[in-house]
Amino acid sequence: MVDLSIVIPLLNEEDNLRLLHERLTAVLTSSPHSYEIVFVDDGSTDNSLKVLQGLLECDPDHVKIVELQRNFGKTTAMVAAFQNARGNIIVTMDADLQDDPNEIPGMLETLNEGNDLVVAWRKERMDKAKKKLSSRIFNKTVSNLAGVSLHDFNCGFKVYRHTVIKSIRLYSDLHRFTPVLAAWNGFRVTERPVVHHPRHAGESKYGTGRVLRGFMDLIMVLFITRFLRQPLRLFGWLGVGVFSLGVLLNVYFATLWLIRFLGLAAIAPIGTRPLFSVGILSLILGIQLISIGLLGEMIRYFTYRPSDEYVIRKVWTA
Ligand code: UDP
Ligand code: MG
Repeated sequence: MVDLSIVIPLLNEEDNLRLLHERLTAVLTSSPHSYEIVFVDDGSTDNSLKVLQGLLECDPDHVKIVELQRNFGKTTAMVAAFQNARGNIIVTMDADLQDDPNEIPGMLETLNEGNDLVVAWRKERMDKAKKKLSSRIFNKTVSNLAGVSLHDFNCGFKVYRHTVIKSIRLYSDLHRFTPVLAAWNGFRVTERPVVHHPRHAGESKYGTGRVLRGFMDLIMVLFITRFLRQPLRLFGWLGVGVFSLGVLLNVYFATLWLIRFLGLAAIAPIGTRPLFSVGILSLILGIQLISIGLLGEMIRYFTYRPSDEYVIRKVWTA
């Protein structure tokens, strides 16, 4: 084990890596912690890997390279890095020098104030206005819906205790939601303002389109944190609601039909009323939703693993 693992996912960042390593080394050698820097080459097609190999040669005690077979995306690159990181504390950073290594000691200080995850908050963000606006909407929405109030979920710069990393499962683009997933597991999550720089060299890999993908991931996260362990509580109640609407509409139309059949009043035939179709559809949809919930419960039953049901903070023995 080492004290710190600095984890850096990268895609085509050849002109940033030497300077990043230099700045990280300057900060880390003057700190009391032992450390490693884990670079994950996420399928770069430029000279990033060659540059990394050069860094490994100069600094074999600290540098580790994980070369992925192809571009898997940032979240998966981070998973690969976490699996290869030995640190008690894990610091994630982007490779483009937008995050400042000089902020690492401050982030560690905040972690040691009784926290398990510290998220950097780019208070004065050095990105295009369009990106900043979409990001602001995203952050507000996530804060309100997910129940974890942060200004900047998407910042690549975060400091985790190893136990947090072990407890969360990352796929799709879930790296943005680690604070939500960690808080849901009972970890203490906080944020700290940091300076932010324009990208040093190379090009951004993300446009505003990621925000749209982010909203889909938000639905996924809300589902994971609320209903993953009891799917019937979502689909069952939805189904009961929709089915009840169907029953009400059908009772209403059955009454109309009866009045017409008995000739008690002049009523138009019910078969052509759009609401009649809604009533029939609601019955079918309601039953389908309940069935989906029950299928979910079946999957839950047969995939049950006691160790997935909780996260231990500490085991106390005499
Ligand atoms: N990145 C990666 N794999 C990808 C896309 C991006 O490893 O498929 C890395 C990228 O090299 C950088 C970090 O993720 O280190 C953040 O990307 P970028 O700086 O392009 O995002 P932005 O800051 O523009 O949001
Ligand atoms: Mg960047």
